[in-house]
Amino acid sequence: MRKFLTDMHTHSHYSHDGRNTLPEMLEEAQRLGVAFYGVSDHFDYDYDLTKMTEEERIKLQDADPADYFHGARHLQEDYEGAMNVLVGAEFGYSDDPAVKKRYAETYEKYRPDFVINSVHGDKGKDFAYTEIQGEKKAVYKEYLALIRRSLDAPYPYDIVGHIGYVARYVPFENVEFSLDEFGKEIDEILSAIIQKGKILEINTASKHLKQHTIPSMEIVKRYYELGGRMVSIGSDAHFKERILEKRDEVVEELKKIGFTYVTVPCKGEYIKVEI
Ligand SMILES: [Zn+2]
Ligand SMILES: [Zn+2]
Repeated sequence: MRKFLTDMHTHSHYSHDGRNTLPEMLEEAQRLGVAFYGVSDHFDYDYDLTKMTEEERIKLQDADPADYFHGARHLQEDYEGAMNVLVGAEFGYSDDPAVKKRYAETYEKYRPDFVINSVHGDKGKDFAYTEIQGEKKAVYKEYLALIRRSLDAPYPYDIVGHIGYVARYVPFENVEFSLDEFGKEIDEILSAIIQKGKILEINTASKHLKQHTIPSMEIVKRYYELGGRMVSIGSDAHFKERILEKRDEVVEELKKIGFTYVTVPCKGEYIKVEI
């Protein structure tokens, strides 16, 4: 095992919210010395476009998957020998069977190097574009139940994306959720991740939240206690200045907990990279 820099959650102009082109992102990653760079552009089949305003619909339109995979695979070849560019995808989970079928078909057709399974919203609407109503306890219980169901997605995936993302968009005074309050639900999720052999993502795009990672380090520590060893660090960078953001401090905290490596998924193979 050797020490390498990894960033396994990034976006580019192929995502509706990416601000730099993929060549720009890759150039910066290489300049920073990244050894494993995961491109995980958005596939938001979970969005129900009929529930959106015209403006949202236009804004949230993703690139054509054929364009994305074609362009990204070319760049992957260009970087061969210089940097491991992994061409992945972030699949936004939905309970809708038709959406699940579309992800399964996309996977079969394009065979991404890795997949991040993320929950961005519920019933077709992204949390970022919804007015979330209800009491904290009920809202978070419902969210965690949705995360739990997402783990049973009927298509291949490797990484469980940003557990706790919803906290960025809730109107509560104290948005953090702790093991004290939701220990049972969180344990069920973490145990399922371990049992299914999936990788827990530590996402550093916590924006205004007090915690600096999603999920919080309290939850990551609990995962370790339950026997979880496979973690991935992702900046969720949508522009080049955020690549590797907070990686050093996350690595320090992971080491304190007991982790010695991160896991990089590539075409079903899980590579251990020392931290
Ligand atoms: Zn995401
Ligand atoms: Zn993302």
